[in-house]
Amino acid sequence: MYARFLWGLRGYVRNTISLEEAQAAVRQRMAEREANFLRLVRRGIFGYPRSPYLPLLKLAGCELGDIEHLIDEKGLEGTLLMLREAGVYFTFEEFKGREPFVRAGQEIPAQPSDFNNPFLNHYYYVESGGSTGAGTRVPTDLEHMAANANSIMLGLDAHGTLGMPSAFWYGVLPDSSGPNAVLRHVRCGEVVNKWFSPTMPGDLRPSLKNRLATRLIVSLGQLYGAPIPVPEPVRLDEAAVVARWMAQTMQSGGGCVLRANVSKAVRVCLAAREEGIDLTGTIFMGGGEPPTPAKVRQITDSGARWVPNYFFTEVGAVGWGCARPLDTNDIHFFKDSLALIQYPRQVPGSNITVEAFHFTSLLPTAPKLMLNVQSDDYGIIETRSCGCPLENYGLTEHLRHVKSFRKLTGEGVTLVGGEMVHILEEVLPTRFGGSTLDYQLLEEEDAQGFTRLSLIVSPNIEIADEAEVVQTVLEALGRGSDAADQARALWNQAGSLRVTRAEPVWTSRGKLMPLRLARDSSSSRDPSPD
Ligand SMILES: [Zn+2]
Repeated sequence: MYARFLWGLRGYVRNTISLEEAQAAVRQRMAEREANFLRLVRRGIFGYPRSPYLPLLKLAGCELGDIEHLIDEKGLEGTLLMLREAGVYFTFEEFKGREPFVRAGQEIPAQPSDFNNPFLNHYYYVESGGSTGAGTRVPTDLEHMAANANSIMLGLDAHGTLGMPSAFWYGVLPDSSGPNAVLRHVRCGEVVNKWFSPTMPGDLRPSLKNRLATRLIVSLGQLYGAPIPVPEPVRLDEAAVVARWMAQTMQSGGGCVLRANVSKAVRVCLAAREEGIDLTGTIFMGGGEPPTPAKVRQITDSGARWVPNYFFTEVGAVGWGCARPLDTNDIHFFKDSLALIQYPRQVPGSNITVEAFHFTSLLPTAPKLMLNVQSDDYGIIETRSCGCPLENYGLTEHLRHVKSFRKLTGEGVTLVGGEMVHILEEVLPTRFGGSTLDYQLLEEEDAQGFTRLSLIVSPNIEIADEAEVVQTVLEALGRGSDAADQARALWNQAGSLRVTRAEPVWTSRGKLMPLRLARDSSSSRDPSPD
């Protein structure tokens, strides 16, 4: 997999795109949304006997001809909504293989890898459906990054940052967000001046593959002429290093952009304030966690500008901040690459219903084929004329108040709630006594805008040293998935976890909700778990 990736890197970094090419590509994808969708359905689902969507479509009594007919009659989103109503969807837990697929009382045998796009890009464009030379995809895919780079370049252009000196404060592999962001940027013909990394390979579980992979991407990229710097370690408490670089770069003219998730941007701005560093005119771009008003205020108080973006590991770029935004997280949805509908879903373990986002892939380069796959995010989708350059391409759908109902996103690490629920319900009661009712996790923001995770432990539990509880949670995370291990490394650095001795508060009707999100007053449509 890495061999093919590294082999493809040469062509990828040498064939940078121009703004005109990016504009033409997005316009064409907008014009061909329905055709692109049908192409994926025809070949990638109906032409792939192992597709996990086939049993769902069969249960719904839906043939390929029905979908083609529906598209003519109802359009793309109308079709997706009808399919969702007929039960054609997967939850995020099912998609990730964390829960079995049970429909109509029977378990559907499928693996998470069955969602991989079975065919390479070019296969979707050849006339006959013959299976020779179809090839298999790899999960991290340069072709898809190149496809995403077209949309991203329009986002950079809308904010006037093309050609500006830039730095990235993102991790190295196995955290793929850093390498992916750097590589997409380079594809747009942009220079990456600095790559700061909060974790180095030694902070995470040792893995020779990961250690070599980042080094290889950088050195091969440089060999092929791509401006990719060697990652420099900058831990979370060293944000002043980044602030100083930004101020110096700003002074030497031409502006300065930092790409980092929201809480790292907040750290840079706080460090700048402490050291009297002027960040006026600089730009922070990022996502990874909701840019709440409290967090964004810390950024804009420094004189910097904030531009949100929205990425989702399995699909790549979802959207980019509006240049004339209504609030701190006003995102233009990349409708050329994806389709999105909302459908009510009950939050597991609660009596709250949210309008969950369901994503559908439209690009044949998509590494995973998604047909109404829930993302665990919810928010508001609105069509609005904002007057910023992004609407010129037909990108008139805005996403606002996007939040997750099952994930913890402290320090830009996305951890699906299930892993934490296991720790709260099994690891902690086993170690310290009590039951699942005695432990709960509350996600809240402190006065500076940082996400704090309070481990609420009932006073009935006797604990000699509260630090031991935090240590037990961190150790359990270190035994979990790669994402959990990254959460361990960063939450440990940031001191995100703390113990609060109080009775956990459960939702009404006695239903359990081990993860409690603090009430957010920014939208009246938000659920109030308490
Ligand atoms: Zn806009």
